[in-house]
Amino acid sequence: MAFNRSQDVERRHVLARPLHTFSGHVLQVRCPTPSCGGVRQLWIDALLGRWGERPMNKVVATLRCTHCLQPAAWVMLRRPVYPGQLRQSDLTLVLLGGGLGPR
Ligand SMILES: [Zn+2]
Repeated sequence: MAFNRSQDVERRHVLARPLHTFSGHVLQVRCPTPSCGGVRQLWIDALLGRWGERPMNKVVATLRCTHCLQPAAWVMLRRPVYPGQLRQSDLTLVLLGGGLGPR
């Protein structure tokens, strides 16, 4: 996936595609409840068995915190530069929320 278009254009394309398109990518999900402690990493490959054919917008709408069951405050898609490893240099795209970033 190219992240070199505008974020708004890229976001619309990404949200319309099935999840399996993003094998190898990671969803970073922030819980809105401060006491839950923030951001989770969801490796998309681990979700493909259940949600592989589901469009990304449906997947994002389905995500809930495992502790408080609230919907995500924001969701970012990361494309790891090095397969299987998260680095600061990874390309990211905000899929939901204000784009405050992972910190
Ligand atoms: Zn929570």
